[in-house]
Amino acid sequence: MTAPVKTLCPYCGVGCGLEVLPPALPGKTTSRDDQGNLLWRVRGDRDHPSSKGQVCVKGATIASSLDKDRLLHPMMRDRLDEPFRQVSWEEALERIVTQIKTVQLTQGPEAICMYGSGQFQTEDYYTAQKLLKGCIGTNNFDANSRLCMSSAVAGYIQSFGSDGPPTCYDDLEQTDCAFLIGTNTAECHPIVFNRLRKHHKGNRKVKMIVVDPRRTPTAAAADLHLAIRPGTDMHLLNGIAHLLMRWGMYDGLFVDECTQGFPEYSAVIEHYPPELVARECGIRLDELEQAARYWGKSERVLSLWSMGVNQSSEGTAKVRTIINLHLMTGNIGKPGAGPFSLTGQPNAMGGREAGGLAHILPGYRLVKNPEHRSAVEQVWQVPPGSIADQPGLSAWEMIEGLEQGQVGLFWVAATNPAVSMPDLERTKAALLKSPFTICQDAYYPTETAAYAHVLLPAAQFGEKTGTMTNSERVVTLCQAFRPPVGEARADWEIFAEVGRRLGFTSQFAAQSAAEVYDEFVSLTRDRLCDMTGLSHGRLAELGPVQWPFPAPSAAVPSLRDETGEESPSSPPEVRQPRRLYESLEFATPDKRARFAAFHAKGLAEPPNPDYPFVLTTGRLYGHWHTQSRTGRIPKTAEMHPKPFLEVHPKDAEKIGLSPEGWVEVISPRGRARLAVKVTPAIAPGTVFMPMHWGFLWADGAEVNALTHPEACPISLEPELKACAVRLVAIAPQ
Ligand code: SF4
Repeated sequence: MTAPVKTLCPYCGVGCGLEVLPPALPGKTTSRDDQGNLLWRVRGDRDHPSSKGQVCVKGATIASSLDKDRLLHPMMRDRLDEPFRQVSWEEALERIVTQIKTVQLTQGPEAICMYGSGQFQTEDYYTAQKLLKGCIGTNNFDANSRLCMSSAVAGYIQSFGSDGPPTCYDDLEQTDCAFLIGTNTAECHPIVFNRLRKHHKGNRKVKMIVVDPRRTPTAAAADLHLAIRPGTDMHLLNGIAHLLMRWGMYDGLFVDECTQGFPEYSAVIEHYPPELVARECGIRLDELEQAARYWGKSERVLSLWSMGVNQSSEGTAKVRTIINLHLMTGNIGKPGAGPFSLTGQPNAMGGREAGGLAHILPGYRLVKNPEHRSAVEQVWQVPPGSIADQPGLSAWEMIEGLEQGQVGLFWVAATNPAVSMPDLERTKAALLKSPFTICQDAYYPTETAAYAHVLLPAAQFGEKTGTMTNSERVVTLCQAFRPPVGEARADWEIFAEVGRRLGFTSQFAAQSAAEVYDEFVSLTRDRLCDMTGLSHGRLAELGPVQWPFPAPSAAVPSLRDETGEESPSSPPEVRQPRRLYESLEFATPDKRARFAAFHAKGLAEPPNPDYPFVLTTGRLYGHWHTQSRTGRIPKTAEMHPKPFLEVHPKDAEKIGLSPEGWVEVISPRGRARLAVKVTPAIAPGTVFMPMHWGFLWADGAEVNALTHPEACPISLEPELKACAVRLVAIAPQ
């Protein structure tokens, strides 16, 4: 009998383990996708510690996406109004290398940008960092994590001295009170929600608070749903702290011994009396008091959040203010308690570990730190000073660079900015100005491919072996179970080949993803995310492992020796999932966590007489981001066939929108035409639109035609969650 291949679901940051079996076995029935391709059989991996055999509809149907609309060969064209022509890898790579050299000479390395993705495996991320930051000489690598998690990254670094969620999924089953803010976990991280919900249902003493302007399936399961007005999160968080302070429900000993900055924070929260906060948030006073009581009376509070907090012009302030509540009440470093950001992409965490944003380097290092740059340059074997000392361009800054003609080469890999960036008309106009865009993807067509000069076919899920880290810091070896289709190659191999052709042969000498991984983990030594005890071989042997996982002693630098064989040295003990900061010592120089003192600022674009509604955006259970996969899978596509706008019945009546009608949504930047969904689940004055539809799937109904790029000044994460709009009833389209 064929043994299943172990891998990871390539969708969200929950990171559910999968087992894959070949499509046809003698005597067994098998099935085909709607194009007649044999389907691999996929099931949940019961041995995976994060998911324990569970999968949602996306993981369960992943096999149907493997052979649909795949990009099989490199393609090129000179102008965007020409059709693509198939070319050899040799021709495509030489064209790219020539363009890199030309741009380096004429505009400088800072005119080269790469925009990557949490769909990368860690080995892809790491190789891209070396190519851009170490060899080409620009820190202009950013990933779609900038639109997703960068506020959480900044919040952790500033509050604790290092990035890294301190909690684990076991905390879902050990908490007394789950505080979910800005996360529709039931739809967007379903298996995390299943674990929490089971614990919550089985114990009446366990409380669940959900903060969301919509009555989502997550909110419907809560003991207390705080339907605050969009943009009032900071009022709410400071208001809860005010009440805890007033009632003496805080942990003075923890505050004294483990933190800094409490007096300044206390001075801020004085300004948030409950009556004012309830009024600002649009909730009842007793609801606010109940939330504070749940926090104050619970031994263990676990906060969960995702895009509703991060995608904000005050995203870092919100993250730090959530962490403030944990510091104030001593809710960290113990089972069932702590702040827990849920990552969107399957390997956004691996990207952070590998340095996959414009301001960071592998091993949770910072580009601004000279010691950090030097440590990385030594391992990369590049001359001192090769890594630029300032952060590169963030995702939106790359779009601005294109607008201003400052970018000579824009390389997009495994992501779809022509759908996911804010202010799409501006984004598309900027992409049209790009003199040379490379689009490296598994699928064709995509919206971004329409703006590309070169298409590079990438191997995807199941076609390459590498690692991914999920939201609870569990690293899984994702094993290939079939060869890449057509001429597709692993992303890291493409980056390495370009590096070698630029003359960096020793830097890109690795022959396998396992060798790339060995080099990457060497850069985690003695860092918070120490993974020096890991290798592909060890992960295959042990199964998924949570970091930190250091090598057993400094004398054993790696478990793979020069011959590539596994070292006979004694293996590190297999650890159970555990929390960071259990010692109550943080990663700051004095080991104390930092309180932050932020006042509420509100939305960057509040509603006004011309645009009287707040549009909020989000995700649906069956779809994933811009639908490159889920739009091609009949089951998930049928679950959510078209976009819609949720409107409260009172607002629908006011505007003259009928339940089966259509609406034009207009913001200061653009418009979208789509069907109306009248529902009391959305608060009056707020409307909701899902984010999954680009022009390939629903032309003229793109949510990001409406959103704006105003970003958090610390994390540079745009406020994709809210903008001001007006509504006009239109005839069905
Ligand atoms: Fe995949 Fe996320 Fe669903 Fe798990 S919860 S199966 S990781 S999409």
